[in-house]
Amino acid sequence: MALCGTAATNVTKMMAAYNGGSSAVAAHHPHHHHQLQHLPPPHMHHHHHHQQHQQQHTHHLQQQLDIEPDRPIGYGAFGVVWSVTDPRDGKRVALKKMPNVFQNLVSCKRVFRELKMLCFFKHENVLSALDILQPPHIDYFEEIYVVTELMQSDLHKIIVSPQPLSSDHAKVFLYQILRGLKYLHSAGILHRDIKPGNLLVNSNCVLKICDFGLARVEESDESRHMTQEVVTQYYRAPEILMGSRHYSNSIDIWSVGCIFAELLGRRILFQAQSPIQQLDLITDLLGTPSMEAMRTACEGARAHILRGPHKQKTPAPPPSVPLTCCLISAKDALAHPYLDEGRLRYHTCMCKCCYTTSSGRVYTSDFEPVTNLKFDDGFEKNLSSVRQVKEIIHQFILEQQKGSRVPLCINPQSAAFKSFISSTVAQPSEMPPSPLVWE
Ligand SMILES: [Zn+2]
Repeated sequence: MALCGTAATNVTKMMAAYNGGSSAVAAHHPHHHHQLQHLPPPHMHHHHHHQQHQQQHTHHLQQQLDIEPDRPIGYGAFGVVWSVTDPRDGKRVALKKMPNVFQNLVSCKRVFRELKMLCFFKHENVLSALDILQPPHIDYFEEIYVVTELMQSDLHKIIVSPQPLSSDHAKVFLYQILRGLKYLHSAGILHRDIKPGNLLVNSNCVLKICDFGLARVEESDESRHMTQEVVTQYYRAPEILMGSRHYSNSIDIWSVGCIFAELLGRRILFQAQSPIQQLDLITDLLGTPSMEAMRTACEGARAHILRGPHKQKTPAPPPSVPLTCCLISAKDALAHPYLDEGRLRYHTCMCKCCYTTSSGRVYTSDFEPVTNLKFDDGFEKNLSSVRQVKEIIHQFILEQQKGSRVPLCINPQSAAFKSFISSTVAQPSEMPPSPLVWE
């Protein structure tokens, strides 16, 4: 994984981290050959001729490139991700299976929200849906498969690998995380589970935020309670640990601060065994919070803090801490001079928004774009039964596919079909631990 540009000293090769992460898994499945295939959808006969033509073309293409076997590459909170080949162009893509979607209304709604978000996003540092596989007839519609760009690794794998990680790496990663978050927050979306494993990285160090299984639209009404079922404990903001029922963008920025320290120190900043200990580790470093800072904390959490010794702020906290404590928005953080080098490197040779001509680099007018369009979760209000949501999702997927590309679907003849179909997801017990309920 190499950084580009003249400022890139310590150009490091981190491909071993990627291979280490995936080849072991691949070794268990040496004969996998699960190819995506497109089949004409039974209910779209009016496109028949056009599709058949393209289909023959891609079949030919598929034989030409007899391709890398498919393999599982990752497991998010709610889905299984495989690396597969798109038979239409031979490109490697990631295929995320969202299983058990229609078990109950809660899971239907969660998956529909994530699906809508993946189709909504248009930003280089946020993972988005390239395609959704053609659903079968609604009577057989049980799983949803989303195609996204394939990323070779993630920040967790990189941090725990033996590969060198320079401060230049940390800067360009931090810049991209904040750039992606600024966009997400401008759409009114809180990610709520920013952690190294949800930050995908490719071999050029381009980073994309992924896994929107826990993402929600920001609640502007302070009296409305938000669920506390969020954020892997180590990256959880103190306001959530203290039982605050309302929180904002700053919970994602807190997680970024923790990740930044982890990038520099190669170890988790606040690694506690329980949510109470998590809070204690944070106050050890940052000192006892003021009463004003504990305004939204629940009674039990405030009592816990006040019962304990009064802690002074540690004089020399890790470099990320000022960033975490003083800045509450991605926009403010991006204005920090520390981010200048990351911005320069990113737009000199990594981005897709600037380009190079014979007379030099032409930079974009907007380095950190936002969206004026808020993500609208109003659709969720009218979802009342599993059958109804199933029909709406089915229709939504078909609508997404009205483009010129041939639809894709699962190929049951492929060698990997069985293990792919049976691959499952994290059970509730493996989910990030729920924050403590303060009494
Ligand atoms: Zn650019």
